[in-house]
Amino acid sequence: MHVVPLPALADNYIWLLHDDHGQALVVDPGEAAPVERALAERQLRLRAVLLTHHHPDHVAGAAALRTRHAVPVYGPQDQRVDCISTPLGDCDELSLEAPQAHFRVLAVPGHTLTHIAYVGEGLLFCGDTLFSLGCGRLFEGTPAQMLASLDRLAALPGDTRVCCGHEYTLANARFAAEVEPANEALQARTREVAALRAAGEPSLPVTLASERAGNPFLRIDSRALIEWGSQQGATDRVTRFAALRSAKDRFRG
Ligand SMILES: [Zn+2]
Repeated sequence: MHVVPLPALADNYIWLLHDDHGQALVVDPGEAAPVERALAERQLRLRAVLLTHHHPDHVAGAAALRTRHAVPVYGPQDQRVDCISTPLGDCDELSLEAPQAHFRVLAVPGHTLTHIAYVGEGLLFCGDTLFSLGCGRLFEGTPAQMLASLDRLAALPGDTRVCCGHEYTLANARFAAEVEPANEALQARTREVAALRAAGEPSLPVTLASERAGNPFLRIDSRALIEWGSQQGATDRVTRFAALRSAKDRFRG
């Protein structure tokens, strides 16, 4: 299976998956045009659209793609998105015949309350829940909800390739370095990302193992984060996570 991040809008990625027989699906088409272009260039047939959450920069292209290509649209159980043909919830299984692919659905509330992620084919489509070296803002959920969601994602196999909804990695790296200045894995990942971005390449996908080593939001139980948290007056892992998320919200790096 080929995995291609299509840059869209300001800093979104629409994820294109296709096999060697020209069968394709896309995840989170915030606009239709980059998808149509990629399908034409690669001579692919669109067979399915997957959505992670209701925000327009992830779903705005889905209705046009559904109409034009007569494809099913999978997504969360959320009335705010009216183009979903098959709503999915926690632990649902999604089996597609073309491209042949199997995904498990995880409910990952936090960024939004109905946010879902798709796990399968060695890939994780996590929308705006987990970013490389960061995580999504808490627009609807609580810190406890988001932490539980990130815990579930962090427990996936280390070689899982994480496909996030935005190219935020370099900005996230600056904040992560403030929190954990001595983390060598973080420094190595930051150098790698700087080189990729300088060459105009996406910083994604990234392995979950790399994220567990460098992403402060997945390192809430590490000695460094416990120390950082105690300086902020955080007494347990949820308040530590909440302090970390709000420090990131305030950070101007
Ligand atoms: Zn979002």
